[in-house]
Amino acid sequence: MDVKAKLAKIVGPKNFSDDPAQLKAYSQDFSYTPAGMPNCVVKPANSEEVSAVVKFCSENSIPVVPVSSKIHFYGATIPKEGGVILDMTRMNKILEIDPENRRVRFEAGVTWDKLTKDLEKKGYRVIMPLTPPAERSVLTDFMEREEPTNQVYDYGEPLEAMEVVWPTGEIFRMGSASVNGYPDSMSKGGNPSGPGLDFYRFFQCAQGTMGIVTWTNLKMESIPIKDKVLFAPLEDIGYGIDFLYRILPRRIGQEVLLLNNLDLAAILAEKWPDDFDRLYTTLPTWTLILVVSGLLRRPEEKIAYEEHFLADVIKNEFPDLQLGENLPGFPGLRKKILPILRRPWPAKAPYWKNAVKGACQSLFFHTRPMLVPQFITGVEEIAAQYGYPIGEIGMYIQPIEHNRACRVEFNFFYDPADEEEIAVVRALYNEAAAEFLNDGAIFTRPYGELASIVYEKAAAYARTLKRLKKTFDPNNIMNPGNLCF
Ligand SMILES: Cc1cc2nc3c(=O)[nH]c(=O)nc-3n(C[C@H](O)[C@H](O)[C@H](O)COP(=O)(O)OP(=O)(O)OC[C@H]3O[C@@H](n4cnc5c(N)ncnc54)[C@H](O)[C@@H]3O)c2cc1C
Repeated sequence: MDVKAKLAKIVGPKNFSDDPAQLKAYSQDFSYTPAGMPNCVVKPANSEEVSAVVKFCSENSIPVVPVSSKIHFYGATIPKEGGVILDMTRMNKILEIDPENRRVRFEAGVTWDKLTKDLEKKGYRVIMPLTPPAERSVLTDFMEREEPTNQVYDYGEPLEAMEVVWPTGEIFRMGSASVNGYPDSMSKGGNPSGPGLDFYRFFQCAQGTMGIVTWTNLKMESIPIKDKVLFAPLEDIGYGIDFLYRILPRRIGQEVLLLNNLDLAAILAEKWPDDFDRLYTTLPTWTLILVVSGLLRRPEEKIAYEEHFLADVIKNEFPDLQLGENLPGFPGLRKKILPILRRPWPAKAPYWKNAVKGACQSLFFHTRPMLVPQFITGVEEIAAQYGYPIGEIGMYIQPIEHNRACRVEFNFFYDPADEEEIAVVRALYNEAAAEFLNDGAIFTRPYGELASIVYEKAAAYARTLKRLKKTFDPNNIMNPGNLCF
């Protein structure tokens, strides 16, 4: 039996395609990564079918690229060496909502749209990164350790026990989902670790090179009973960061983030380009958004306590900070911002980063918040050298874990039809990344053109990773051409 006939037999002919028109959709995305065609796409219905596809591909050394979302931004799912797209979008079931253990178990193809709506009906939510597209897989966001806007939790933590298919086809469960009889067992899969080794970390940020996750457990929490959204305009980002050092370690605030005028204008604009132009020119240089929330227990008292603390700190230590329920000059923002922070970006609206000029390249990394002003100066200097207007760099600072660290994101907007602009953004992006790496930026996701810069710096680490990869994926079938494999 030939390869295509065998794959079609595993998933059923309706769920197999080698039609070039269908394959084209997987060959490119919103990034400037060169296009790459797969040979076919399969859409499995369950873990057993995933296992059979992967086993067959491993035995025949055929590349497999797992895809769980319907929208992609940085080339990770573009086949670099052809092969099979393993499209997980049919595996889109929410398997359990378990309030007692505050967890939801769901398959890889479940989107933000589906999960947020289903949980909301029962009074629950999961913490979210900033504006995830509605059609994106929730699983991949957490696999990729996208930092949530809610800085109270460990950003890599909400993932709990999961099931994976190894590159040789074996099905494997980790953490407390590994016990016999799961899910009808006493153990509910709330513990991602052990017994012994924490395998789940092996899969985070692995870009599908170590295997395929079929379902996962994720922590969930109650929707707050009451929220108060606060804003502060800032000209001096350092002043705002000092304030965050003072309040976030005291566990004040749920969602907390800083956006510059360009990013915030693009997020808020409804009518393009009029709204955007008006907001961009009138918003303050930076806006701090801080949400204080009362959950199930004594919500009013909790908010009152946080507000009291904030008032005290501002009065005595940060008298210039204008923290209030309204951003001066922007009435109505309070009502508008909470749904933006708590719901995915609607599928029908153009994604805000693409609305500015058609496409966007994001450079992001982790650092200590106190170093942020230095990186901003750095990016402005490099942009100026390349003739990229400083005022057209989008900036987003996301505090992580009570301001222990932060994600810094610089957005370079460009016209995807303009080769010259692409060349400028690409050169600027690569130079800034190389320089920032030397200045101590931590690229937690060194993908694409960043991979060689980062892995070169950590030769022993990359060597060990390659040895491990050979053990788990002896025929190097899983998403080849990504990371250092
Ligand atoms: C340089 C860069 C720029 C970015 N720009 C943007 C942006 O402009 N806007 C935005 O919203 N986000 C952006 N992101 C964030 C990115 O989209 C997120 O990291 C997101 O969390 C990944 O989701 P995805 O489904 O789109 O990823 P995908 O690219 O679809 O998947 C991520 C990786 O996981 C693998 N994978 C997919 N499913 C599985 C599975 N079931 N098991 C194992 N592996 C799997 C894929 O093969 C891929 O390698 C950017 C990320 C980077 C690194």
